[in-house]
Amino acid sequence: MNASPDCIFCKIVAGQIPSRKVYEDDELYAFHDIKPWAPVHFLVIPKLHIPSMAQLEASHAALLGKMMVLAPQLALEQGCNPYPSGGFRVIANTGDDGGQEVHHLHLHVIGGPRPWARG
Ligand code: ADP
Repeated sequence: MNASPDCIFCKIVAGQIPSRKVYEDDELYAFHDIKPWAPVHFLVIPKLHIPSMAQLEASHAALLGKMMVLAPQLALEQGCNPYPSGGFRVIANTGDDGGQEVHHLHLHVIGGPRPWARG
């Protein structure tokens, strides 16, 4: 799937909507969430427009693996403390029942000093 014309994350990747970039390479983009839930809260997305986890195919495995390896590296760079006393959450809301509002696959990476993470 290529860029989707009405997708705000595709527009962020294209530079048509501003974002606070955390990381970029040829396949991935990461940026600070506009409404952070915690001291560290950024999103890791593929540049490829995949609507959600529900559309993943075997051919996406390497791309998803790259996202999962990148997330902890960026979390440390962004101020999350190291494992095990430190840490962070990685969340991929999927579909309406999963609380997904932006239908471009993304990992939320959320962390920083507690107490935000209780519950
Ligand atoms: P939810 O809003 O329930 O977390 P999602 O999992 O789809 O739903 O997350 C979309 C995230 O994208 C939200 O945390 C929201 O704050 C963030 N967001 C929306 N628009 C922008 C933007 N222009 N720049 C940065 N983050 C954005």
